[in-house]
Amino acid sequence: MGYGHRFRCAECGEEYAAYLGTGMIYPQTYEKTAEDIAAGKHGEDLRQALELPYAAVDASMTLYVCASCGAWVNADRVAVLAPDDPEEAEREAGGDVKGPGGVRFATPWELSEGYHVVLEEVPACPGCGGPMHIASESEETELRCPACGAVNKEAFGVMWD
Ligand SMILES: [Zn+2]
Ligand SMILES: [Zn+2]
Repeated sequence: MGYGHRFRCAECGEEYAAYLGTGMIYPQTYEKTAEDIAAGKHGEDLRQALELPYAAVDASMTLYVCASCGAWVNADRVAVLAPDDPEEAEREAGGDVKGPGGVRFATPWELSEGYHVVLEEVPACPGCGGPMHIASESEETELRCPACGAVNKEAFGVMWD
């Protein structure tokens, strides 16, 4: 189940939200992202990273923020991860290197233990073109209004899917 943050702008009344995590269709999102990476749609470096033994993908809904101008983007993550210890991964997988779409399926929770990010695609800031980063928990709950630019605190949290 995913979670999210809803906002109502104190200045202009605009309502907006950011959604995070994974929902029911995550396996499809995962497979699509893995296929796109394998097909080179996210660049040659990511395509090669996915060829590492027991490589996996993180495609969960992610919030990126710009440290310079405060703009944010809510999108599926495009990251390739690999096990810290490929031999242990091999024992655990029992030889099951490839899953649907040619890539092993792993949830972000599985990946949070014993996996590291090899390479990921982070969107460029739509406001200033600068680098963005994945929002911290505190940054998630204080987002700039896309209509007027005022910074608002989360009005309420939601669960989705
Ligand atoms: Zn920016
Ligand atoms: Zn506003």
